[in-house]
Amino acid sequence: MTSGTHLTGEVLLECGNILFFEVAPPVKGTEVWCRKHGKMEKVEKQFRGETYRIKCNTCRYGRNCGSGRLAAETAMVRHRTKRGMHHEMVLMNAQHKILWKLEANQVETLELPNF
Ligand SMILES: [Zn+2]
Ligand SMILES: [Zn+2]
Repeated sequence: MTSGTHLTGEVLLECGNILFFEVAPPVKGTEVWCRKHGKMEKVEKQFRGETYRIKCNTCRYGRNCGSGRLAAETAMVRHRTKRGMHHEMVLMNAQHKILWKLEANQVETLELPNF
């Protein structure tokens, strides 16, 4: 076992489902088992580094946003613009750790982290 390297990752299947792998995510073109559809499916894309997903606690809206954090945050803001500011939303990483939360009726200012 090598330490210090992050081999975890996520892959996007051809059906749009995203799978998380604790070790060595399969490369593009590999066939893996899709639990959601109960069949083998090809890997469409491999994500590097952190991937993000958003979830609405008010209406159960949820979406995998891949590795684009900005896209995920934008989708959160857009969902509330469409459905109402009372929708409480969270931004999570692959391990379901909450990275950002939009409380009900909170006026969000898109403050991006300093890289
Ligand atoms: Zn599938
Ligand atoms: Zn909602």
